[in-house]
Amino acid sequence: MKRGRDRLLTQLRPQIDDERVLQAIAAVPRDRFVPAALRRDAWENVPLPIGSEQTISQPLVVARMCELLELRPSDRVLDVGTGSGYHAAVLSRLCHHVWGIELHEQLARRAARTLVRAGIDNVTVTIGDGAAGLAEHAPYDAINVAATAGGEIPPALEQQLALGGRLIAPVADDHGEHLVLVRRHEGHFERTRLEPVRFVPLR
Ligand code: SAH
Repeated sequence: MKRGRDRLLTQLRPQIDDERVLQAIAAVPRDRFVPAALRRDAWENVPLPIGSEQTISQPLVVARMCELLELRPSDRVLDVGTGSGYHAAVLSRLCHHVWGIELHEQLARRAARTLVRAGIDNVTVTIGDGAAGLAEHAPYDAINVAATAGGEIPPALEQQLALGGRLIAPVADDHGEHLVLVRRHEGHFERTRLEPVRFVPLR
């Protein structure tokens, strides 16, 4: 495992500037978040199937999205499409608390179990439709979306950002699928289109 982890970190380092993010990737045991049969590949820089036709994201993409959110230790974060719980686990190393929301009940239950077993106690997983956000714990300093919205980011999510809050999400339009970074300012949202990515659709 150690060799796989070191190799992954070497691969990520040229593309990720934030050392805290690299340390978070190194600290989260990705092998626990993938199906047992794929454990050997857990430290490869690739997405992997996690059942129910969903995938655990590529480590580089997880690292990049975490970096773009510019997290501070006091931040409260919403993770939409928690899947295996891996991305939430990496986020949890960089902030105060993560609320995860996952549509698929079986995945949500498994993610919650995996997180507890990995000794991570600052992630709460909820079953539900994350396109509506999670109003009861809003506003969030940061929102991470791990499934692609068509056309635009669900307005409910942007509305649950705190002032100065950041949101990162894959968005599909006529030109394909891209990461979009949103920053909430007084009176308006600043949206920046970034690199192409591939995620499963937000339902
Ligand atoms: N972040 C995950 C992988 C994301 S795959 C990880 O680290 O493993 C995308 C996930 O989004 C899938 O698990 C899918 O079930 C979930 N999803 C899709 N639409 C959703 C919605 N509207 N609300 C909540 N979860 C959703």
